[in-house]
Amino acid sequence: MRRIVIVGSTGSIGTQALDVIERSDQLELVGLAAGRSWEPLLAQAQAHGVERIALADGDAAARASEAWTGGEVLGGAEGLVELITEGECDLVLNALVGSAGLGPTIATLGEGIDLALANKESLVVGGELVSALGEATGARIIPVDSEHSALYQLLSSERPGTVDRLVLTASGGPFRGRTAAELRSVTREEALAHPTWEMGGKITIDSATLMNKGLELIEAHHLFGLSYDQIDVVVHPQSIIHALIQLNDGASLAHLGYPDMRVPISFALHHPERADVPVAPLDLVELGALTFEAPDTDTFACLALARVAARAGGTAPCVLNAANEIAVHAFLEGEIGFLDIARLIERTLEELPSRPVRHFSDLYEADSEAREITRRLAEGVSA
Ligand code: NDP
Repeated sequence: MRRIVIVGSTGSIGTQALDVIERSDQLELVGLAAGRSWEPLLAQAQAHGVERIALADGDAAARASEAWTGGEVLGGAEGLVELITEGECDLVLNALVGSAGLGPTIATLGEGIDLALANKESLVVGGELVSALGEATGARIIPVDSEHSALYQLLSSERPGTVDRLVLTASGGPFRGRTAAELRSVTREEALAHPTWEMGGKITIDSATLMNKGLELIEAHHLFGLSYDQIDVVVHPQSIIHALIQLNDGASLAHLGYPDMRVPISFALHHPERADVPVAPLDLVELGALTFEAPDTDTFACLALARVAARAGGTAPCVLNAANEIAVHAFLEGEIGFLDIARLIERTLEELPSRPVRHFSDLYEADSEAREITRRLAEGVSA
C-alpha cells in the first residue's frame, strides 16, 4: 500500500485525485491539506477516514479544530510542512495553486519523499534549487500536468542523447484566433470558459493568456533537462495529443487521450504500476481530424514573456510567476482588463531585472518584491 498525502485536496486536481484514490486498492490516504476551505476539507477527511489535516490559514485551522474531534488539525504554512514530514507517507501530491506550493515541494523533496507535482509554479519559481534538492535526497518528481506526464512516459524508454526536441501542445484557450482589439473588453466569465479542460480559476485564466504554456515550458526544462531552444509549443485545439518527442532518427512519438486529468493523476500516484481509470478509449474515427497551428505570441504576449524570463534565468522566472499571480488575481477581481495581465508582467520584469539565485531566500525576496511592484502597477491601471 502506498501512503499518500494530498496538499490542495479541495481544488480541481485534489478532488479528482480523491476519485482516483477511492477506486484504487494500491493507495491509502493519510493526510489532506487546503488553504482555508475548512468545511470541505473536514468533509473529505471524514469521507476518506483521514485523521490528520492541515489548513494554511490559521483562523480556518482553529475553526476546524473546534468542530472536529475525530482527528488532528495542523495550522499555518508550517502545519502543511508538518503534515508532510511527520506523516510517514510514501508520496505527496502537491495540488496547491501558486507559489504557495513551493514550501510543500521543498519539504517533500527535502525528506526524500517522492513528489507527484501538479503545482508547476513551485518548479517555475524554485527551478534549479528544487531539482538539485530532489537529486540530493533521491526523491523523484513525477509530473501531473498532462503534457509533462505525457513527456515523462515518452522519454522513459529513450536513451540519453537521442531526444532532439520536445513539443508541448496547447488548446489555445477560449480566445484562440482573436485579435488584440477583440481581447480588450473580454470579461472574466468569458476567460473562465475553457473549451476543453475543467480546472481551477487561476490556471483557466493562465490558459486563456497562454501563460500556462509559458509556465509549462519552464517546468519541462527543469523536469527533462533540455534547453529552451529544444522545447516547442504548438496549438492543438482538440487537446487529444498531450505532447510529442522528436528523436535523432527522424521518429516522433506522441501521447494521446481524451482530456481527463484523472489519467495523469492516476499515473503519478501509481507509477510504475498503472491502474484502471474510467475514461472512454480513444476513437480516432469519431475524432476524424486533429489540427495544429503556431501560437500567436504577438497577441498572447505572456508566452513570449515566459520565454524571455526563462532565458534570463536567475530570479526572472520567479518574478514572472509572482507578477502573473497578482495580475490574474486583479483581473479576476475586475480591477484590470485582460490585456493588462501581460502588460503588468512585462513592466514588473523590466523594473526587477534578473538576479542570481543562491538560496531559496533569494527567491522569497524576489517573489515579494515582484508582488509589490505588480500591485502598484495594477492600482495605477484601475485608478
Ligand atoms: P484550485 O484553485 O482548484 O485548487 C487549489 C488548491 O490549493 C485548493 O485546495 C486551495 O485550498 C489550495 N490553496 C490555495 N491557496 C493556498 C495557499 N495559499 N496555501 C495553501 N493552500 C492553498 O487549483 P487547481 O486544482 O486547478 O490547480 C492546482 C495546481 O495544479 C496548479 O498549480 C495548476 O497549475 C496545476 N494544474 C491543474 C490542472 C487542472 O486541471 N486543474 C491541470 C494541470 C495542472 P482552498 O480550497 O482552501 O482555497
